Amino acid sequence: MAIDPGLLIVFSGPSGCGKGTLVAKLLAQRTDTVLSVSVTTRAPRPGEIDGVHYFFKTREEVEQMIREDALLEYAQYSGNYYGTPRAAVEEHLRAGRNVILEIDVQGAVQVMERCDDYVSIFLTVPSMEELERRLRGRGTEEEAWIQTRMQAAKSELEYIGRYQYTVLNDEVDAAFERLNSIIETEKSRKQPQE
Ligand code: ADP
Ligand code: 5GP
Repeated sequence: MAIDPGLLIVFSGPSGCGKGTLVAKLLAQRTDTVLSVSVTTRAPRPGEIDGVHYFFKTREEVEQMIREDALLEYAQYSGNYYGTPRAAVEEHLRAGRNVILEIDVQGAVQVMERCDDYVSIFLTVPSMEELERRLRGRGTEEEAWIQTRMQAAKSELEYIGRYQYTVLNDEVDAAFERLNSIIETEKSRKQPQE
């Protein structure tokens, strides 16, 4: 019997809006869903593990992957490379697992242009003040980085209309329910009709 391929889920939103929090909840509750582990040239934050949160690489290593077409998409964000290793994504989808790409808007547009079949979701915050509060609350970034991220957030919000779905992360449990129901709806839409 053929396996239904999984959903390719493009999940974006400004840094600090709560993507990681919601993805962790999704992975804990859905055994049919995995997160694509990206490569990045940025330094690990305290507690981040190589191969779990990101594959931490040098610029030369990422540029080599770009030349070999080993990345499904890539972008430069706040001065660092970020990219999605292609092979792992394709393998998960073939095995019927949903794959979440937690990626910035530039990378998301590349996936929208290159892939036929995907679900795109943009996560938003109630206000820019709340975004800044969350970025500071995470306590992992220096002041200059917070300002860079806030600037980036403003330009990222301009891409919101390119996404199929927008989810407001006002309260974690409510946002999770919205996200999960989008996945359920899109999964059932993909199932072959009798
Ligand atoms: P991202 O992955 O988008 O950069 P995180 O998931 O790291 O964002 O969240 C940034 C900070 O905001 C974290 O400290 C997280 O606990 C907090 N946070 C996430 N969602 C909410 C929410 N709905 N209400 C309040 N704080 C939140
Ligand atoms: P952070 O440094 O906060 O982990 O991530 C910064 C931004 O890069 C976030 O918007 C995040 O979604 C995005 N990002 C993470 N991995 C990738 C990736 O593989 N490709 C692209 N294009 N963006 C990514």
